[in-house]
Amino acid sequence: RAKAEGRGRFQYYSSSMTDAARDRISIDARLRRAITRGELFLHYQPQIELHSGRIVGAEALVRWQDPVEGLLAPARFIPIAEETGLIRELGAWVLREACRQGRAWLDAGLPPLRLAVNVSAQQIRHGQFDQLVEQVLRETGFPANLLELELTESVLMDAHSEVARLLDNLRARQIRIAIDDFGTGYSSLVYLKRFPLDVLKIDKGFVDGLVHDRDDRAITLAIISMARALGFKVLAEGVEDPEQLMILQAHGCDLYQGYFFSKPLPAQEFVQRLQVQPVS
Ligand code: C2E
Ligand code: MG
Ligand code: MG
Ligand code: MG
Repeated sequence: RAKAEGRGRFQYYSSSMTDAARDRISIDARLRRAITRGELFLHYQPQIELHSGRIVGAEALVRWQDPVEGLLAPARFIPIAEETGLIRELGAWVLREACRQGRAWLDAGLPPLRLAVNVSAQQIRHGQFDQLVEQVLRETGFPANLLELELTESVLMDAHSEVARLLDNLRARQIRIAIDDFGTGYSSLVYLKRFPLDVLKIDKGFVDGLVHDRDDRAITLAIISMARALGFKVLAEGVEDPEQLMILQAHGCDLYQGYFFSKPLPAQEFVQRLQVQPVS
């Protein structure tokens, strides 16, 4: 395992290494530099309230402009960063950058928007995550009640008391907790009542089949009614066409995001998109 300390890196040119392993080590080293050299940036995907059709927030999604390979999507480097542990530094950078941008938008007179930031299980497992959040909010002046943290189900299946305490601390600060890719992780529903949560994000996989697949539709609608009964907001991910939207609307889904409304956008384009909607 090529850990941060770099013992593995001496094997960089070893002929016994597979291409995949070499690729992984090379990406890890370059990504480490990318964080400090400003090669990372964020795209923002609008989140829309279904009943009003208004943008009420955005999900921050990391991008990497690599000098050699060009623009890299997170699928190319997040899994590697998770393996090497670099995700903790990367995740801290993303959180800080999203809050800095959010504060700058407020200062520029834009209406308050909620910003959702993805948090990896590793960031939670390694402790002091609530302190990092506290520090970033203090540094940037971004309001805690506009921050939403997206966790995956796997986080909630770890060391329960620790995670519960962490989430309690965050929620005491009015930070919202969302479960990302809901329905694709561990199929235990116990954590829905054990943890303080605010939003369930229905995985795109189910939303994809909403119109034509009976099972996906049943699952999507069941998630919506369960979320509502438990007092959570529910957001559908990856909405691509108006038929999906109509079904979601008819069944009381609160929010959505997806290419139908907009792809994730660079900050400036996101602001332009925002200015098209009527002022609240
Ligand atoms: P996610 O958090 O579930 O983010 C949603 C992904 O779906 C994004 O891909 C987004 O571009 C894509 N998407 C949204 N709407 C549509 C649609 O209508 N159609 C299709 N085909 N795709 C849609 P992206 O930006 O490539 O990110 C992929 C994953 O990488 C994210 O999934 C998240 O798990 C991870 N990721 C991205 N940024 C970060 C980050 O800052 N930290 C961590 N830990 N993970 C991140
Ligand atoms: Mg997400
Ligand atoms: Mg998701
Ligand atoms: Mg997803």
